[in-house]
Amino acid sequence: MYNPKSLKAEEFIDHQEILDTLEYADKNKDNFELIDSLLEKAAKLKGLTHREASVLLACEDESRIKKMYDLAEQIKKDFYGNRIVMFAPLYLSNYCVNGCVYCPYHLKNKHICRKKLTQEEIKNEVIALQDMGHKRLAIEAGEDPVNNPIEYIIESIKTIYSIKHKNGAIRRVNVNIAATTVENYRKLKEAEIGTYILFQETYHKESYEKLHPTGPKHNYAYHTEAMDRAMEGGIDDVGLGVLFGLELYRYEFAGLLMHAEHLEAVHGVGPHTISVPRIKRADDIDPDVFDNGIDDETFAKICALIRICVPYTGMIISTRESKEVREKVIRLGVSQISGASRTSVGGYAEGGEEENSQQFDVSDQRTLDEVVSWLMDIGYIPSFCTACYREGRTGDRFMTLCKNRQIQNCCHPNALMTLKEFLMDYASDRTKQIGEKLILQELDNIPNEKVRQLCKEHLVDIEHNKRDFRF
Ligand code: SAM
Repeated sequence: MYNPKSLKAEEFIDHQEILDTLEYADKNKDNFELIDSLLEKAAKLKGLTHREASVLLACEDESRIKKMYDLAEQIKKDFYGNRIVMFAPLYLSNYCVNGCVYCPYHLKNKHICRKKLTQEEIKNEVIALQDMGHKRLAIEAGEDPVNNPIEYIIESIKTIYSIKHKNGAIRRVNVNIAATTVENYRKLKEAEIGTYILFQETYHKESYEKLHPTGPKHNYAYHTEAMDRAMEGGIDDVGLGVLFGLELYRYEFAGLLMHAEHLEAVHGVGPHTISVPRIKRADDIDPDVFDNGIDDETFAKICALIRICVPYTGMIISTRESKEVREKVIRLGVSQISGASRTSVGGYAEGGEEENSQQFDVSDQRTLDEVVSWLMDIGYIPSFCTACYREGRTGDRFMTLCKNRQIQNCCHPNALMTLKEFLMDYASDRTKQIGEKLILQELDNIPNEKVRQLCKEHLVDIEHNKRDFRF
């Protein structure tokens, strides 16, 4: 029986409820009266339920789809302004005991080069990342209790935070590791991680079990209930995601929103972020084997609908997507993107991808400086801000900031100050020129006069080589 408040995976992601939802959506896909009323509701920033959202996803009427896109753009502007937060993944180890059939790290893959970074190697990776200008990382590792135990992950996080190379610093480490115990989540919290990210891969239990035939990840309930354990362990910023391409996208979309509703119902706070990875070619993996791939148009529609259905949740897009696709979906509500990513273990310090250890092919191969100047060219402010969790604004406190529209007095000046740091320390001449002009213009968009004044003073301080200011 469907129950969003239940702590049992099969009850808060109830299969029958998803099937009923899809049937309801099919029945109402041409019910324009209902669809218009849903768009009106969404425009009031109240969010939409999984059933309502699924009707919009099923709708094929061009003019209404355009309205969905326009609304997504509007909500993005209202809540998130024109800032895009930058991050990079850091692969620590690709040892893995699971059998995930879509992932090149799967245990049976004997031709991938297995690697686990030593603390010294992590230091080199972090220096390379700092030298590009990154301040925020997402660490990634395969699941392997012997090679990658929680102690290794914690030690690595400490190493990452400890490195201060020139003016560089990693100020926020998000973590994408396999589902684990409450006790381990508590350790991650104590190690001061930002968001705990775990992709569900698919919400369809039967497919999930087939796609994860062996290893601890085979356990659907343990995986699906991970966010509840993370929250019990004190982590209140969690990031959801499904790997699009594995199952029917309409099923996944409903499941994703049900998961968000569950977190809100039980913990009083929805997911901090939602990621939208699509399956990619990789060593030993041919994405065409999976028949549920979605085209760019459907992908864009999903992004737009996530934006209007959960307006307070950040949306992340990785370099799995090309520059063109990224440009399209950034407009529709994405708030964080990765730049200059390497998905191989040790890929930053090595500077190449020669070694066969990467997780998937990267579509966007540009440098961070190129991504930063591109974002500014298309009207966005690249932000290296990491202030929220450092100021204790996690979970519902971040949501409150968002709901009270204080982002313009907080995230906006933080974006300008961290962009200024990037311009001073890492940018090319062209990027610097565009950036300085942009900062001057954007200062006027800080509503609170006191904050604006203080921000101006800090910008001068940054020119005098002081760092790390935040509101
Ligand atoms: N091992 C961890 C776990 O079990 O959740 C997470 C780390 S894994 C390095 C990060 C994510 O990459 C996975 O959750 C999966 O969704 C995604 N991934 C795996 N294979 C992929 C592929 N071929 N193309 C795109 N994404 C892939």
